[in-house]
Amino acid sequence: MSNSLPVVAVASLGGTISMTPSDAAGGVVPTLDATQLARSVPGLSEVATITTASIRQLPSASLRYDDLMEVLAWAEQQIAAGAVGVVLTQGTDTLEETAFLLDLFWKLPAPLILTGAMRAPQAAGADGPANLLSAVRTAIHPDSAGRGVLVVMNDTAHYARWVSKGDSLAVQAFVSLDGGVAARLVEGRPTFFHAAPVRAQPLARPVRAWPKVALLSAVLGDEGELAELAVRAGYEAVVIAAQGAGHVSFGFAERIGELTQKVPVVIASRAAGGSTASQTYGYVGAEIDLVRRGAVMSGWLSGLKSRLLVTALLASGVAPGAVTEALTNWSKLTRR
Ligand code: ASP
Repeated sequence: MSNSLPVVAVASLGGTISMTPSDAAGGVVPTLDATQLARSVPGLSEVATITTASIRQLPSASLRYDDLMEVLAWAEQQIAAGAVGVVLTQGTDTLEETAFLLDLFWKLPAPLILTGAMRAPQAAGADGPANLLSAVRTAIHPDSAGRGVLVVMNDTAHYARWVSKGDSLAVQAFVSLDGGVAARLVEGRPTFFHAAPVRAQPLARPVRAWPKVALLSAVLGDEGELAELAVRAGYEAVVIAAQGAGHVSFGFAERIGELTQKVPVVIASRAAGGSTASQTYGYVGAEIDLVRRGAVMSGWLSGLKSRLLVTALLASGVAPGAVTEALTNWSKLTRR
């Protein structure tokens, strides 16, 4: 191993990439740690000097905000100690959420890269080793700097801002529908298609307990009862993944008018891609009406990511009354 190789810090959090069969559980469960994962990648030690940490061993649905804040502090320490980039391995089920949340707080130019696997290590054609190798190769590439948090899967790099899980089980699981992918890897090198995007000012670390923010899909026949129940149950904000370009029923619209007196209400689209509208539809329950009633449209930001942005804003000390403005400013800045 040459001393001149760049250092990349790899941390494991669990997920399919780390899962092996368990007779007791009747299926695969997380068992492998970061050192074992790194060892399983042919040629990795010729690409970079790898340091490892095993931070959690969880299915990704059970990762919590505080786990991610611990990871963030660890990642910053690794860069301060000389790593050129950091790679996290985790489950793919919440990858688009964890990447986005970490991106809101990541303040360094060095790349923070998340990867995982769709096939467990013992499966034929397991993709974990290839994904980890591509993630490390992306981490050491100079063009990766200043792009915030990236997700590298299947030889493709995605921005945290745009990435979503588009398929539950396929190896090609992730898409970046509106913003497009950041880079493709060819012969082990990422080709970035555009200059680094404008990034919003990183948020201040949480100064209070993480708030509960509801994400509810508006569906046919929906009058918004669940949104009202969520607020009564103590949820501090409500994000509605609404129909089409951000539309709800007449009854739901009335409830939104009442709820905005109490908590921030954000309207996203439940469609897989596309933006909410701002000045097209004039009927009751459409964007012009909902904004008049005090809601804020999320623009290009999905419901999942709007919920995390509102959660992080509140946690970092933004007052509920200032969430609408903060979300609007954030969306304007990061449109690219
Ligand atoms: N199916 C998941 C994965 O791809 C499990 C998880 O998210 O932890 O890793």
